[in-house]
Amino acid sequence: MTDIFSQQPIDTLITCDWIIPVTAGDPVLEQHAIAVHQGKIVDVLATADALQTYSAKHLHKLPQHALIPGFINAHTHSAMNLFRGMSDDLALMDWLNNHIWPAEAKWLSKDFVADGSRLAIAEMIKGGITCFNDMYFFPNVTARIASETGIRATVGLIVFDFPSAWGEGPDDYFQKGLSVHAEFRNHPLIQTALAPHAPYTVSDAPLSRVRMLADELDIPVHIHLHETNDEVQGSLRDHGERPMARLQRLGLLNSQLIAVHMTQLTDDEIELAAASGIHVVHCPQSNLKLASGFTPVGRLQRAGVNVCIGTDGAASNNDLDMLDEMRTAATLAKAVDNNARTLPAADALRAATINGAKALGIDSFTGSLQIGKSADMVAIDLHNLRTQPVHHALSQVVYAASSSQVSDVWVNGKQLLANHRLLTLDEDAILENSREWLKKIQN
Ligand SMILES: [Zn+2]
Repeated sequence: MTDIFSQQPIDTLITCDWIIPVTAGDPVLEQHAIAVHQGKIVDVLATADALQTYSAKHLHKLPQHALIPGFINAHTHSAMNLFRGMSDDLALMDWLNNHIWPAEAKWLSKDFVADGSRLAIAEMIKGGITCFNDMYFFPNVTARIASETGIRATVGLIVFDFPSAWGEGPDDYFQKGLSVHAEFRNHPLIQTALAPHAPYTVSDAPLSRVRMLADELDIPVHIHLHETNDEVQGSLRDHGERPMARLQRLGLLNSQLIAVHMTQLTDDEIELAAASGIHVVHCPQSNLKLASGFTPVGRLQRAGVNVCIGTDGAASNNDLDMLDEMRTAATLAKAVDNNARTLPAADALRAATINGAKALGIDSFTGSLQIGKSADMVAIDLHNLRTQPVHHALSQVVYAASSSQVSDVWVNGKQLLANHRLLTLDEDAILENSREWLKKIQN
C-alpha cells in the first residue's frame, strides 16, 4: 500500500509506455515516468516506482505514448508563415529577388511579424517544437510573441546591407539589435543571436562588427552559408574567394557560428568546418524545393561536425514540421551518402533535439530528458494506424509518426499543448487572422 505521507510532493508526473531521453547509448525506457518540479526534471524512473515515490499535483497517464525531448527547430523565419504557398517552384535568387523581397517591401510591419509569428508558433507547438532559432525583421516582436506563448526561442538580430521596414542599414540594425538583446537578456526562455542574413547580403565591415559583438555579448552567430552554387560563384566573382573562406578571413569560423544549409562543400571545407567547431543546420526540404543542392550530412558527421535540423521558413518548405523534416533528413542522408546506415533513426532524433541545443549553446539545460534539465518534453501518441505495431518506439517516431500524433507539449515544465489543444494560443483567432491577411495580400 502506498503511504501518501511519505510521498514526495512534486508539480507534475508523466507516465508513458516509452520514454526516449536522447542520452548516451540511445535508450528506450519502457513503462517509465518523468517527475517534474519547478520546471525541472527531478527524476526518470520506472512507472511503478514513480507512483510510489511521488505525489504530483498534475498526473498525466499516457499509455501508448512516447515521450521525447522537444524538437529544436534550428533555423526558421517564423513570420514568413504569412507567405506560405505564395510563390512556389522557383530557384533561390528568383524566389528572393522577384517574389519574397518585393512582398516584404510591401507588407513588412510590426503587425505582420506579430501575426505571422503567432501562426508559426502555434504550428510549431502543435508539432512538438519547444524551441526555435529565428531570423527575421522585428525580432523584438517575435520575441514578445514567443514569450507570451511560453515557447523557447533564440531570436536573430538581423543584419543586412540594405534597408527594410525594420532598419535603415547596418548601423541601424546593430543599434536596434543591441536594444533587443538588452530587453531580453535576462528572460528565462528567450535568447538572442547575431543574424547577418548571408554572405551575399552583408559586406565585410558589418560582418567584422558581428564577430566583435558576438565575442562581447557571448551569443551565437546565425547565417545562411553555402546555400547554392550561385552563391559560391557570386562570391568568387565579387570577393575572389568562396563564402566560407571569406568568413574565415573575417574571423567568423568558430564554435559560435551556426551555418545554415552548407550544400556546397569541398573536402577541405568539411575539414575546416570540423576543425573550427562550427555547427551546421540542415534544412533538407527547403534545399530540395529550391533545388539548392544536397548537404553532405554523412561526410560532415564523420568529420565530427555537429549537424542539427531546421525547417527554414514556411515560404520555402512549406511547413514547420520537424517530424517530417527529421524523416526527410534521415532518408535523404542515406541517398546522398549512398549508404543505408547513414543518419540512423537515433542520430536523426539527436540532430532534431540535442544537436540543435548544442548549436544554440543551451544544451546544458535542454535538448534531452535528464535530471536537472528543463522539462521541455513532447508526447507522441503511437496508438495510431500509421505507427502500429510498435516494434521499436524510436523507429516509429522517426520513420512513421506524423505531427498530428503530437498530443502534449511542455516547455520548462509548463504545459502548452494538452491532448492536441493549444493552451496559450487561440487557434480559431489565428485561423481567422490568417484569412484576413490573405485578403489584404491578394488585393
Ligand atoms: Zn532561411
